[in-house]
Amino acid sequence: MQPTSPADDAYPPEAGDRPLRPPSVDRLLAHEALRLLIDQHGRPRVLETTRKVVADLRARAADGAATARDCALDTLAGEIAARLAAGDQPGLRRVFNLTGTVLHTNLGRAPLPEPAIAALELAARHPTNLEFDLAHGRRGDRDDLIEGLLREVTGAEAATFVNNNAAAVLLALNTLALSKEAIVSRGELVEIGGSFRIPDVMARAGTRLREVGTTNRTHLADYEQAIGPRTRLLLKVHTSNYEVRGFTASVGQRTLAELSHAHGLPLMVDLGSGALVPLERWGLPHEPTVQEALQDGADLVSISGDKLLGGPQAGILLGRRGLIDRIKRNPLRRALRLDKLTLGALEAVVRLYRDPDRLAERLPTLRLLARKLDEIGALAARIAPQVQGHVPPGYEACVTACESQVGSGARPSDRLQSAGVAIRPTARGRGEGRALAEMAAALRALPVPVIGHIVAGTLVLDLRCLEDEATFLQQLPQLRLHLASAEPGQP
Ligand SMILES: *Cc1c(COP(=O)(O)O)cnc(C)c1O
Repeated sequence: MQPTSPADDAYPPEAGDRPLRPPSVDRLLAHEALRLLIDQHGRPRVLETTRKVVADLRARAADGAATARDCALDTLAGEIAARLAAGDQPGLRRVFNLTGTVLHTNLGRAPLPEPAIAALELAARHPTNLEFDLAHGRRGDRDDLIEGLLREVTGAEAATFVNNNAAAVLLALNTLALSKEAIVSRGELVEIGGSFRIPDVMARAGTRLREVGTTNRTHLADYEQAIGPRTRLLLKVHTSNYEVRGFTASVGQRTLAELSHAHGLPLMVDLGSGALVPLERWGLPHEPTVQEALQDGADLVSISGDKLLGGPQAGILLGRRGLIDRIKRNPLRRALRLDKLTLGALEAVVRLYRDPDRLAERLPTLRLLARKLDEIGALAARIAPQVQGHVPPGYEACVTACESQVGSGARPSDRLQSAGVAIRPTARGRGEGRALAEMAAALRALPVPVIGHIVAGTLVLDLRCLEDEATFLQQLPQLRLHLASAEPGQP
């Protein structure tokens, strides 16, 4: 370490007696607080951060904008510690999803049940029989670990697993219709959020898309006329994230299956969300199940693992043994396969479906979707006064009725009655939008960021997905810190 220059020892100077000079980097590094930071973060990071802090201070001092307090060693050590801590914040962080969308793609979709978390940990920590047949002591297939369970739960002949449903569609089309045609209705050329477009995926799969019908109406004859020597399969896509209303016609899955089979072609159904149990029993809107799709003649069904199934991100292909075997032999499968962590978690989730009577207690996605309105209402009645107690002057918070949705494209027009807290600026008119945006930003700046959504000039926190009430309440006092600079309603 360089010896410190004598000039540094004169700080902090008497106010006004001479220009302020920040301490040297070396002098700072010798400070006791920085030695502790070096132990914690390592010398290179502390050195770099110290250099930046000193450079920033020198720039301010040159402008005459630095005070003696700014130049004090303790102040600078505090600033360096704060910057290092901010840089240590993990990229992937926990948040509160109070958007009202239970399966929110941007917030990570399904939260996992405890047995899945235990399986993740086990697979992370220890060697496993991932591709090892313990009975015979030889190489095994990772799919075998869950295939039996899914066959039992769904009645499908066979199943295979990939990274997500987009990969499942890609792999199936690439296997069954490479350089050939797949027929799909123009009413089903869906785009899912994040720019997953069925036509684009088909093109990349090397499959020629044969579109039939029109946006609002497709008839059996349209499919019939399109079938030719190059046709390899008929595809039905569950239009999960929109509805075509009015003068519409589509061909039912059973009819389409009959047509496919009469021509010796398989029918593939991309179900998207794909429930494994009828959701009506929990008072939820009907969502087509995998079992129904199979009973109605689908030869291959694809679903996501992290939508209504309530598991980790995965794509599941179920259906006829012959088709699944061909898919498994596709070399692309290697590039799309599930990793051991996901596989373990998925197995644990599917296992819960063996006991549907207890599913709503055990599977968080279903528990949240089926949460009773009076329970959410009681929560809102407890929470709203606390929020009101912590919003700064210029805002008010109260209980509100609101509507949740399933999310991830499932049943977009069906709403679930819910309750929450509404936060709005007290002064209407000028500055209101800005005040609302500042409140939303302050909630996002909390240690566990709170994500709500703005409807009609109000920030709504839908409490359907709030289960950890204590953590939420504990951080409320910090809300004012993040709004300190803002006087709501002022221009
Ligand atoms: C969500 C969805 C997909 C994409 O599934 P991911 O698991 O997100 O890749 C594909 N098709 C349909 C119909 C969907 O709803």
